[in-house]
Amino acid sequence: MGDTIFGKIIRREIPADIVYEDDDVLAFRDLNAQAPVHVLFVPKKPIATLDSATAADAELLGKLLLAAAAYARNEGLAEQGYRTVINCNEHGGQTVFHLHVHLLAGRQMHWPPG
Ligand code: AMP
Repeated sequence: MGDTIFGKIIRREIPADIVYEDDDVLAFRDLNAQAPVHVLFVPKKPIATLDSATAADAELLGKLLLAAAAYARNEGLAEQGYRTVINCNEHGGQTVFHLHVHLLAGRQMHWPPG
């Protein structure tokens, strides 16, 4: 599997504004924020896309979502609400092929997304 910019962030080879870390998950601010709060939650394991995740990754995927939810709650974002997004492959708009959950908050979200 090819390395990505997120792999370099995980290994601290390039800088990022890291807001959360545990044994399995790293979270940092999106460089091109689409909302007042825009944080990316990435598994340290380099899974390329949601499509390439397997049953062996079930616990890790759960941890990823729960880390995003806990961050939102701790930051006082949960009551007003937020959006989580996982883009998969070309039509999903995925540009970095290391699975990540976008957490967007701080403004009204709209549906359907563009
Ligand atoms: P996606 O299009 O779902 O693959 O999302 C990739 C996201 O990564 C985009 O929102 C980019 O703005 C963001 N991004 C790309 N490079 C960096 C970086 N070095 N640090 C933080 N965010 C990044």
